[in-house]
Amino acid sequence: MITLKLKIIGSGGMSIIPSSFCKCKICEEARKKGGRYERLGPSLYIDDIKMLIDTPEDIAVACNRQKISQVKHLSISHHDPDHVKGIRIVEKIGYDFIADKNTPIEFYALPEVIEDINRMNLDCLKYYGDVLHCISVNETSHIKIDNFDIDLFNNNRDRNITFYVIRENDKKVIYACCNPKPFTHNDMYFDADVLIISLVSDDGILNDGTELKDAPFKDEIFTLDEVIEIKNYYRIKKVIVTHIDEMWGKSYGYYSELEKELDNIFFAYDGMEIIV
Ligand SMILES: [Zn+2]
Ligand SMILES: [Zn+2]
Repeated sequence: MITLKLKIIGSGGMSIIPSSFCKCKICEEARKKGGRYERLGPSLYIDDIKMLIDTPEDIAVACNRQKISQVKHLSISHHDPDHVKGIRIVEKIGYDFIADKNTPIEFYALPEVIEDINRMNLDCLKYYGDVLHCISVNETSHIKIDNFDIDLFNNNRDRNITFYVIRENDKKVIYACCNPKPFTHNDMYFDADVLIISLVSDDGILNDGTELKDAPFKDEIFTLDEVIEIKNYYRIKKVIVTHIDEMWGKSYGYYSELEKELDNIFFAYDGMEIIV
């Protein structure tokens, strides 16, 4: 049987866990226990085609931790720092400084996302593409590699956030990697095997004990009930929650208990393998 294999390289959100300088109980526990209690920035790896989606600032460390030995294809979902600031990883992949030789890797993103990333990050894609030649930039909404078809949708025209629909034969995975709310309807989401979704606060209580409904970013965060609604409406078999922010104030131990009560909803950890 042919399987589609993915790996969560980093399951953290805007700030990693443990967060530098933070003395909260989640961060202290992560320092003590390590392993699945720690979370690096959000990214996903498609094992079969050696494709990485997103480069948070710690992606080089995360790839080492998760024993990723090759990246042939790269995509970035949007311009926010927690998805872009590790872009320097392409220097190591696509350019040999000693031999002064380049072997560009394929880079794919929506045209508006490429524009945003360049504008917000000192034209980094232009530099790596046109000057250092370690990436080859493809402006596209569809990627075809071997048996894989990957569609890129702009979920939010105000912020240009890419969602990915990854298909191989009859398998289908949606990667809604950041700011999924509002969740823009798309017929392609029906009957997906897996939805990997970000920014979900399960009980609406934040790390400092305050309530999500009073927070400035409240409209961008899903509740668990809303995620269950999406799962049912689109007849999605399994949901994996990722981009788990330190601000939610919940540990790996907490989520592994919580998911026992839920119907095929799981919480990501760094190194989680998803086999479809
Ligand atoms: Zn903390
Ligand atoms: Zn993000």
